[in-house]
Amino acid sequence: MNEAALAMHVRDDPAKAGAAGADFDVLIVGAGLSGIGAACHLVRKRPKTTFAILDARDAIGGTWDLFRYPGIRSDSDMSTFGYAFRPWNDARAIADGPSILRYLAETAQQYGVDRRIRFGHKVVGASWRSEDARWTLDVRAEGGDTLRLSCNFLFLCAGYYEYAEGYMPGWPGMERFAGRIVHPQKWPEDLRYAGKRVVVIGSGATAVTLVPAMAETAAHVVMLQRSPTYIVARPSEEAMAKKFGRWLPARLTHAILRWKNIALQLYLFRLSRRKPAAVRAGILKLAQAAVGPGIDAAKHFNPRYEPWDQRLCLVPDGDLFAALRAGKASVVTGEIETFTETGLRLTSGEELEADIIVTATGLKLRLMGGIKIEVDGKPVEVGSTTIYKSVMLSDVPNLASVFGYTNASWTLKSDLIDDYLCRLLDHMDRRGYAICTPRRGEAAITEEPTLPLTSGYIQRAKNLLPKQGTKKPWRMNQNYALDVMALRFGAIDDGALEFKRLDQASRAA
Ligand SMILES: Cc1cc2nc3c(=O)[nH]c(=O)nc-3n(C[C@H](O)[C@H](O)[C@H](O)COP(=O)(O)OP(=O)(O)OC[C@H]3O[C@@H](n4cnc5c(N)ncnc54)[C@H](O)[C@@H]3O)c2cc1C
Repeated sequence: MNEAALAMHVRDDPAKAGAAGADFDVLIVGAGLSGIGAACHLVRKRPKTTFAILDARDAIGGTWDLFRYPGIRSDSDMSTFGYAFRPWNDARAIADGPSILRYLAETAQQYGVDRRIRFGHKVVGASWRSEDARWTLDVRAEGGDTLRLSCNFLFLCAGYYEYAEGYMPGWPGMERFAGRIVHPQKWPEDLRYAGKRVVVIGSGATAVTLVPAMAETAAHVVMLQRSPTYIVARPSEEAMAKKFGRWLPARLTHAILRWKNIALQLYLFRLSRRKPAAVRAGILKLAQAAVGPGIDAAKHFNPRYEPWDQRLCLVPDGDLFAALRAGKASVVTGEIETFTETGLRLTSGEELEADIIVTATGLKLRLMGGIKIEVDGKPVEVGSTTIYKSVMLSDVPNLASVFGYTNASWTLKSDLIDDYLCRLLDHMDRRGYAICTPRRGEAAITEEPTLPLTSGYIQRAKNLLPKQGTKKPWRMNQNYALDVMALRFGAIDDGALEFKRLDQASRAA
């Protein structure tokens, strides 16, 4: 049976879809990129598994539905940001948000997983009972109803940030400002900025996207940053895709591009780690050439940290630099002293006049969907667990979660985690196991953070992150090649994962 036929077969069988039931083999939390990918893997590789996807929101797509600010786009190349099993067949290397959302919705439809999503289902608690080898989920449904669903394996694809609101540092005098203050996470549909003076506070991925997009029609846009970020231009189209696409099948072209981009990313990341000064100088030189002599790149594009201590910002075809060079936008590096009636005053004394101030100040990190997790009556503090193979947590049975790469496309990791999960479930089925639990034993842990970035949103929440070990399988790799070995080819029964049959668990209880 081919993949599309398989998807139809599963879709049309309500028993397999677990459509009306409350008990499932697997429950997936989150209908974003990770949750849809996970569900497609189950349909493709484990068509008999009953599962449902629960999402607190009313729409598919997570991040790609929530964020609606002007210019919203990927900053990863789409050959690696698209799923490995459903290539992104488009010459655009960087895609806009609506196209990504469409791609996710079409993927869900093609594999029949759209029918398995229960929208408006917010999971607030998950408790595991070893005796039954089951998770019971407390779910808050729309209208305030609460319900309970259960599963043998819980897969958290709940993203990494608070959906309700973004991060907003408080500044003095905000209430005095007569214009509008907007956070990109809650972009007002009625916001008109044509002909208006805009200040965007921030210099991360969101700010560098917003500034050129708004500068197209705004009177002027200022990017106000407390400190600079590394910003690198890249072509928005894959020249290779066009060239190869003429004489190679689409799948092969995609595979070549994907591996080219993976290798390039790994190479640049390693180079940044080994020769940070040279990489910094190279990035600065390119930035200076792109913005022209009127802007001092050494002041505005020369961060305090080394390349890849924080995520590098990519700008398609150098659109930000072009807006700066054309004078439609400008960059100011300085500290805000206070908001005023008409804009902002900096500690340097400089005043920035504005009709609209956009606070592109980032996200609030939230792990595991904010779900209260218990194992046999004891609460789990995620911050005191150790991550196993970047997928599971020590002493927490039958639970996996997705956290993508910080230095490459999220999807590269989520695809590998899904592969691993299917292999793990196959292994358990073959041997009649109902429970698998990572046990750390004597393995040493390290103080190194699991997410090796100094970005504000990670630093603000570092106590919530699981720990990592000094050696595999307790290390969190930021390296696709190592993860391929560990997750796609590594032994499932590696001595660190403890397996039990249901009768063993019941006897022990
Ligand atoms: C603006 C922006 C741009 C980005 N661009 C890139 C990029 O170019 N490349 C890249 O690799 N990464 C990028 N990222 C990171 C991005 O979030 C991931 O790539 C990816 O979209 C994450 O998908 P996800 O499904 O894991 O999480 P999300 O997209 O966050 O989806 C999680 C889903 O889980 C649901 N959920 C959460 N908690 C619960 C709960 N308790 N109960 C029920 N449902 C719950 C949410 O409602 C949501 O629908 C970007 C992030 C942002 C914010």
